[in-house]
Amino acid sequence: MTTPYELVIGIETHVELGTRSKMFCACSAAWFGAPPNSLVCPVCLGLPGALPVPNRRAIELAITAGLALNCSVPEHTKFDRKNYMYPDLPKGYQISQYDLPFNVNGWLEIPSGNGAKRVRIHRAHLEEDTANTKHGDGYALIDFNRSGVPLLEIVSEPDLSSVDEAVAYVTALREIVVGAGVSAMRLEEGAGRFDVNVSIRFTEGATTIWPPQSEIKNLNSYQAIRDAVPYEAERLWREWQDGGEIRTRKGKITVGWSPERRQTFLQRSKEDVQDYRYFPEPDLVRFEISRELVSQLRDGIPELPTQRRERFVRDYGLSEYDARILVSDRELAAFFEEAVKFAGGEPKAVANWVTGEVLRFVKSDGGTIGATKLRPQHVGSLVKLVKSGDLSATAAKDVFAEVWRSGAEPAAVANAKGLTQVSDEGAIAAAVDEVLAANASAVASFKAGNQRALGALVGAVMKKMGGKANPTVINKVLAERIGR
Ligand SMILES: [Zn+2]
Repeated sequence: MTTPYELVIGIETHVELGTRSKMFCACSAAWFGAPPNSLVCPVCLGLPGALPVPNRRAIELAITAGLALNCSVPEHTKFDRKNYMYPDLPKGYQISQYDLPFNVNGWLEIPSGNGAKRVRIHRAHLEEDTANTKHGDGYALIDFNRSGVPLLEIVSEPDLSSVDEAVAYVTALREIVVGAGVSAMRLEEGAGRFDVNVSIRFTEGATTIWPPQSEIKNLNSYQAIRDAVPYEAERLWREWQDGGEIRTRKGKITVGWSPERRQTFLQRSKEDVQDYRYFPEPDLVRFEISRELVSQLRDGIPELPTQRRERFVRDYGLSEYDARILVSDRELAAFFEEAVKFAGGEPKAVANWVTGEVLRFVKSDGGTIGATKLRPQHVGSLVKLVKSGDLSATAAKDVFAEVWRSGAEPAAVANAKGLTQVSDEGAIAAAVDEVLAANASAVASFKAGNQRALGALVGAVMKKMGGKANPTVINKVLAERIGR
């Protein structure tokens, strides 16, 4: 869809860290599905006099996430109070980080055309989650189980210029965070939430117009991003065209998204960092992050998608394009590597199978590769059978379809279907000799320059062998016997 304006998008992602206990108390952080208000104590209820004790694991995970996102980890950091009143925030403030976050200046890559685009990460800071409010008819119920769960807020720069890029960014971000073992980030359980800043930019005559942006709060699925962002961009555009309040507005507005009504609604019209009256948390000391800890955490990060892609290109000799497809899905990448082992090498042939037939069947199935009957050894066997000449490339595809359906071994399927071809030179040479002896005139005709006579000889050998001989081997043996 082309629009009369450019989109400029930045995303703040809230990720619940995978700790056992909460950020500043010993209560369980496994709030999802627990009976309301069963995981609480004076600290996370915000009772007067309760003191916070920082969760070391949460800090380690926050730094790990930052490192996985290519951030720098400053040596000095601290927590701050962010003051505001809301029923889900019993203390009247949230412990967050203001000017000295744990992580700054990172980036991640998203696919863009045949290459990659780098999206900058401004910062990633640690804070505590709020309670949950359930709205009823004329009342609201508050569940404090989620209050105090460690939350990492990852703030991107406004480097995204389409909805597809926004979704690619959150997809890549989630892959990295999950891959680094920082969070399971189950979106359906609210363990990842997105605040999306939407701006539009266009020209009127010679002037570039950049109306105040909207921040869409608390989107919790990729689909919500796909629906809400274009809606809000279009709304901003219309409001400007209609000469609405946006033309005199100072600063951004905050909106919510209603999936039922499929529209945004105004939450707050003005919000300034001064309104929060941040100040250093007096109940916590400042932190000094040792370089030893940083390098220790860096060493503990498993291979992430970008590194895996580089390794596939380097070690398997794959094209950037194939490597990108394989790495886009963790399961697919693992399947590929297993299949290469079973094939005894041949990474390019295996990659062709996996990015070709395998992916085509997985897509038409609508599932994931792990949920099918296909195993890496099946693809490994197919590659071997084609390489040895026991199976033609065409027959291999027939065999694959049957293996996919039944989960049977490729060699057994090939035999049962009578698709195995004979590549044994001895057997083929015997048939060739018989054919040559019985077709002296065709041989003479070929030697006199009639190329078509050769085709007739190949056909005769094939017929003698029941159609199952490897044509490449027949040609080779014929060439040896009658000379060319
Ligand atoms: Zn607690």
